[in-house]
Amino acid sequence: MRSPFSSATRLGPLPFGALVFALCALASRADVQVIVDHIPADDAEPGFKFPRVPPPSASDAATKAAFTLVRGRADANSAGLDVLHDGKLPSESDQPAANFFFADRTPGGRLLVDLGDAVDLRQVNTYSWHPGSRSPQVYELYARASPPGDSLDQLKQGADPEKSGWRLLARVDTRTETGLSGGQLGVSVSDSAGGLGKFQYLLFDISRAKDSDPFGNTFFAEIDVVDRNSHAAEIPATSGVSSNPNWETFPTADEKYQFSLDVSETPDLSDWARRQLVPAVKEWYPKLVKLLPSEGFEAPRKFSIQFIKDKEGVADTSGARIRCAADWTRQNLKGEAIGSIVHEMAHVVQQYGASRRPGPLRARSPGWLTEGIPDYIRWYLYEPQSHGAEIAKSELPRARYDASYRTSANFLNWVIERYDKDLIRQLNAALRDRSYSDDLWVQLTGHSVQDLGREWKTALEKESEARAGAAEPNVAPAPR
Ligand SMILES: [Zn+2]
Repeated sequence: MRSPFSSATRLGPLPFGALVFALCALASRADVQVIVDHIPADDAEPGFKFPRVPPPSASDAATKAAFTLVRGRADANSAGLDVLHDGKLPSESDQPAANFFFADRTPGGRLLVDLGDAVDLRQVNTYSWHPGSRSPQVYELYARASPPGDSLDQLKQGADPEKSGWRLLARVDTRTETGLSGGQLGVSVSDSAGGLGKFQYLLFDISRAKDSDPFGNTFFAEIDVVDRNSHAAEIPATSGVSSNPNWETFPTADEKYQFSLDVSETPDLSDWARRQLVPAVKEWYPKLVKLLPSEGFEAPRKFSIQFIKDKEGVADTSGARIRCAADWTRQNLKGEAIGSIVHEMAHVVQQYGASRRPGPLRARSPGWLTEGIPDYIRWYLYEPQSHGAEIAKSELPRARYDASYRTSANFLNWVIERYDKDLIRQLNAALRDRSYSDDLWVQLTGHSVQDLGREWKTALEKESEARAGAAEPNVAPAPR
C-alpha cells in the first residue's frame, strides 16, 4: 500500500537568496505533493520567479474559469475575484488593489472555481505577496467532477465539503516552514504519478494566516490551474514595474539600500531631482533607518520615488513607494520639496502596518504619532534652520499635542529636550511591534501624555510671552 503522505526533496542553496523547501502534504490521494517556494520580502521581484514553482501564467485553465465567492466577505480594499485569474500580477509587495483578500477581522472564506469543462489536472498553483503577515497561504483544496448542486448551500453554512461529495486534494499551510515572515510565496499542488484527476470544479477553503491579527488575511495575487492535455502556447503573467523603462536606480550613501526615481512624467524636474533630491535621499534614508530601529526589524532595502503629473496634494507613501505631486513640488522647489520627501521616507522605514511579530494586537498606531515622528525628524533633524514646526502666537489657542504633523513634532521635541533623549526610538519600536499604549509615556517620562501635553502648552505660552516682551527693546532704541 502506498503511503498517503509524500515527501518532496529538499534542494540545496539556490540563487537570489531564495529560501526553498518542500512540504509534506496530507492528501486524500497517493503521491499528491505540495511544493512551496518562498522569496523573502527584501529579495522579491515583481515577476514571481521561483526556483521550482512555475511562474504565474496568463493562459492556464483558470484564465477563463468562473470564480465565485461561496462563503466569507471580500475586504473593502480588495480587488475583485478577477485578479485571481487575469494573468496580471502585483508590481509591488503591498498592493491591495492587485490582490484578492478576505475582510479584516474575518476568518477567511471559500472560493468556487468552475473550469467550464472537465480538466485533467496537472497542477494547481497559488501565488501571494506581502511584506508581512498577509503572505502565508493556508487553505484546503477540494475538487469534484459533477456540478456542486445542493452542496453549495451546505458549503455556505461552513459544512465539511467531504460530506457533500467533494474530494480533498491537499492541505496547504506554508507557515509550517516559513512561519509568518513576509515575502512572495508560490505553492504548487501536483501529483508525482502524473495527474491530480479529472475535475470541473475546485473549492478553495481559505483560512487567515494569523488569527490574532485583524489584518491576517492573505493577499492572493493569482491562482493557476494547469491542464495536462493543454498544448496552448504559454503566455506568462505580467506585472507593472519591471517593464517601466523610466526607473533609474541609485544606491544610498552606505550602499546598503537602493532607490529608483521616475521623473518621466515631469522632465522639467529631472535636473533638480538629480542635483538636489538624489544626494539628500542617498544621505537621509540610511539616517532614518538608524533613527527608527527595533529588534529584529530590517527596513525595506528598496524603495521608489515617482513624480506624478496630475496628482493632487503633496505626496504619499504606500509600502515602499513614494508618489509626489508634480505641481506642488514645482511650487516648493526652494522650500519644502525635499523635506516633504524626507517625511515620506520616514514612512517607508516605519512600516507600522507590516508587523511580523506574533501576538495580540494591543492598539493600532495612533495617527498623530505616525505623522508626528516623520515631521519631528524632518523639522528638527533634517532642516532645523527652517524652524518649520515652531508654533506662532495665533496658532497657540488651537495647539494640541495630538494635532499631528508639525504640531505633534513640536510636542515630541519638547518632551525629548525635557525628559527623554531616547523617546523617538522607544515610541517607534512600540508602534512598529504594536505594543504601543499611552502607558508608555508614563514609563518613559513619569507623566501621562495628557499631563505632558498641558505642561508643553504652558511652556509654549510662556515662551510666546517672553518673545513678545523681548521684542520691545529691539524696536525702541536704534543702534548707533
Ligand atoms: Zn505622512
